Amino acid sequence: MPNITVAKFGGTSVADFDAMQRCAQIIKSDASNRVIVVSASAGVTNHLVRLGQQSVPADEQNEILASIAEIQTNISQHLENKVALDVTIHEFLDQLATVAHCQSEQYNAKNADEILSFGEKFSSLLFTEVLNNVGLKAGCFDVRQVMKTNSLYGKAVVDIEQLKVNAIEQLAPKLDSEVIVTQGFIGQDGLGHTTTLGRGGSDYSAALLAEALDANNLSIWTDVVGIFTTDPRITDQARAINEISFGEAAEMATFGAKILHPATLIPAMRHNIPVFVGSSKEPEKGGTRIQQTVASNPTYRSIALRREQTLVTVKSPAMLHASGFLAKVFSILAKHELSVDLITTSEISVALTFDNPTGSTQSLINSSVVSELEQLCEVSVEHGLSLVAVIGNNLHATKGLGRSVFDKINDFNIRMICHGASPNNLCFLVPENDANTVVEQLHNTLFA
Ligand code: ASP
Ligand code: MG
Repeated sequence: MPNITVAKFGGTSVADFDAMQRCAQIIKSDASNRVIVVSASAGVTNHLVRLGQQSVPADEQNEILASIAEIQTNISQHLENKVALDVTIHEFLDQLATVAHCQSEQYNAKNADEILSFGEKFSSLLFTEVLNNVGLKAGCFDVRQVMKTNSLYGKAVVDIEQLKVNAIEQLAPKLDSEVIVTQGFIGQDGLGHTTTLGRGGSDYSAALLAEALDANNLSIWTDVVGIFTTDPRITDQARAINEISFGEAAEMATFGAKILHPATLIPAMRHNIPVFVGSSKEPEKGGTRIQQTVASNPTYRSIALRREQTLVTVKSPAMLHASGFLAKVFSILAKHELSVDLITTSEISVALTFDNPTGSTQSLINSSVVSELEQLCEVSVEHGLSLVAVIGNNLHATKGLGRSVFDKINDFNIRMICHGASPNNLCFLVPENDANTVVEQLHNTLFA
C-alpha cells in the first residue's frame, strides 16, 4: 500500500471556487493525499437545516433554494464541464424541493437528514471537478456505500467494523489510480435511507475513513492555522501550538476548542494515526500536529472555553448512605440520550453539566427530562454558565496548581470545579459574562 493521507476540507475551505483552488494545490503538493473528505460549502448546511424544518413557507423555501443554487453555480461556472455540472446541480435542487415540500407539511427526521446530505453531495461533486481541472485524476465516491449507520437520524452511529470491510473492498482498490473525493457527515442506514452524524461530523467521518483504510495521516484543513493556546478572539496573546498529544487534544476538543469535532480523535487515537490541523488559506504557516508522543509536555498547554452550559443539580436526602441513586439519575439521562460533561457530588446532591448550545440538534435538557428527574429528587437547573478548561500535562500531580490557576482569577465566582479525573485537565464553571475576562487573565499569566 502506498503512503495514504486522508485529508478533510471544511466548509470555509470549499466555500467558493478560489477556496477550492487553494485546496487543490494543497492536495497536489503531496502525493499521499488519496482520500479527500469534504464538508458542505460554508453556509449551505445552515440553509438546509432551515429547509428541513416544519412549516417553512413556500416563499422562504424558494429563497433558500435560490441561495444554495447561487453558491453552487458560482463554483460550477469556473469549471470546464459546467454545463453537465449545472444539470446535476439542478437535479439535486429539484430533489431538494420535493423533500422540502413534504417537510413543510409534516416533519420527518429521515427527510431532514436526506435534505442535509445535499450540502456534501454538491461540494463533493464540484470539488472532484476542481481537482480534475488542475490535472489530478479524481473520482467522486458516494460515502453512503461504505459508511453504514443505525437509523438515529441527526446523530447516526457508524458501524465501524462494517466500514472497515467496505472500505477495504470498495475504496482501497481505487486509491492507486485516483484521488477519491467523498462526503463527510453523511451515511446510510440498513433501510437504505440517508443519515447524518451530527453537526460538524465531517471531521469524524474523515477520522473513521482514515482508521478503516489504515491511513498514515489524517489532515484536517480548516480556516485557522492550527490549534491555539486559547481562542485568539479572546486575547491577541494566543499562539498556535506546533505539537500536542492525543490526550491533551482530546480534552481540548471536548472542552471547547471548536476546531475539531469532539469525536474526531477517537479513531485516530485507537489506530495511532497522527492528525495535522492547518489552514487551507495559509498552508505555508504550518499547523498543529496531534500525535501519541510529543517532544515537550508542558504543565499548561492551553485554555479552552465552552459557552452555553447548563448546570443541573439533583438533591435527595434518600441518597444519604444509599446506593443506586446515581444509577437511576443516569438511566434517565441515558434514556434521553443526554451526554454529561462534568460531575461533582456531595453526600446528598450531584451537580452535572450539559452542553446546551442554541440551535443544537442534540437532545437538550427539557421539561420532560426535568419532570422525570423530579420523580426521584429535587432538581434545579441553571443556565448562563461557561466552562473553562485548563489543559496540560500531569496536572493531577502538580503542586501548587490551585494557587497558580485560581489566584489569577480571585475576583470571580467559580460555580463548580472538576479536577483529578484526567491528568490533562482542570475544569470549572464561571458566569457567562465573566468568561472572556477569566480566560484572558488566566491565559496571559499562565502563558506569559
Ligand atoms: N456540513 C456539516 C455541518 O455544517 C458537517 C460538517 O461540516 O462537518 O455541520
Ligand atoms: Mg467543521
